[in-house]
Amino acid sequence: MTTAAIEIQGLRKSFGDREVLRGIDFTVDPGEVVCVIGPSGSGKSTLLRCVNLLEEPTSGKVTVAGTDLTDPDVDIDRVRRRIGMVFQQFNLFPHLNVLENLTIAQRRVLGRSKEEAGRIARENLAKVGLADRGSSYPAQLSGGQQQRVAIARALSMGPSLMLFDEPTSALDPELVGEVLGVMRTLADEGMTMMVVTHEMGFARDVADRVVFMDDGSVVEEGRPEDVLGSPSHPRTRSFLARVL
Ligand code: ADP
Ligand code: MG
Repeated sequence: MTTAAIEIQGLRKSFGDREVLRGIDFTVDPGEVVCVIGPSGSGKSTLLRCVNLLEEPTSGKVTVAGTDLTDPDVDIDRVRRRIGMVFQQFNLFPHLNVLENLTIAQRRVLGRSKEEAGRIARENLAKVGLADRGSSYPAQLSGGQQQRVAIARALSMGPSLMLFDEPTSALDPELVGEVLGVMRTLADEGMTMMVVTHEMGFARDVADRVVFMDDGSVVEEGRPEDVLGSPSHPRTRSFLARVL
C-alpha cells in the first residue's frame, strides 16, 4: 500500500461558534489531481488552508505524505516546504523582479546558493513559458503571466504536492487558458494537485476525481464524468445547473 499524499479524517473547523467544516474525510493519492468545487462559502478555501496548516483544525486529522500535521510535535515549516500553494491573488513581491521572486525563498528557506537557486528558477520559468521575463517586474506582466510566475515560484521549492485556490478567478477571461494550460502540463507530469476551481472544463478534462462541497461537507465525490455528467445528489445538480 502506498502512503496517501493527503489523508483527511473527520476534519472539523469552527470560527467562533460557526462550524465551517463539518467532518471531512477524503484521501488524495500520489499523482492524483483532485478538483474541489462548490458554492461560495462552502468551506473550500478553509479545507485547503487546513492541508497546509494556514488554519488549525478544530478536530480531526490531516496527514500529508505520512506526516500527521495535527501532531503537536510536527515540524510544520518542514512539511509546508513540500507543499506549494497558489492563491487567487498572485502575492508576488512587487519590488523584486521575476527571477528574484523565484530565488528569495529558495535561498532563505532552503539555503540554496545563488547559482543553484537561479538555475532552478530559470528551469521553472521556462516550464511556465516565461523564460525571457526573468528581469521583468510584476507590474510589467499581465495577470496571467503573474500567476504563471507564482506557479513557477512554488515549483522552485520542489514541492511534492501543489494546492491551488481558485488560481484563475482574478484573471480576465482571455488570460485564464494560459494558466490552466500550465496546470494541465503539471498534472500530465504526475504532480499531485488539489485544485479549488470554478473551471468545470478543467475539472472535467484534467481531474482524476471531483469533490463537491456544500455547507462544510463533502456532498458527493467521484470521477468527473459521474459527478459533473450525472450527479447523484440534488445539491450537486442545482449547483451545476447554476455554473454550467
Ligand atoms: P469558500 O472558499 O468555499 O468560498 P471559505 O472556506 O472561504 O469558503 O469560507 C467558509 C465559511 O467560513 C464562510 O462562511 C466564511 O465566511 C467563513 N470564514 C472563513 N475564514 C474565516 C475566518 N478567518 N474567520 C471567520 N469566518 C471565516
Ligand atoms: Mg474560497
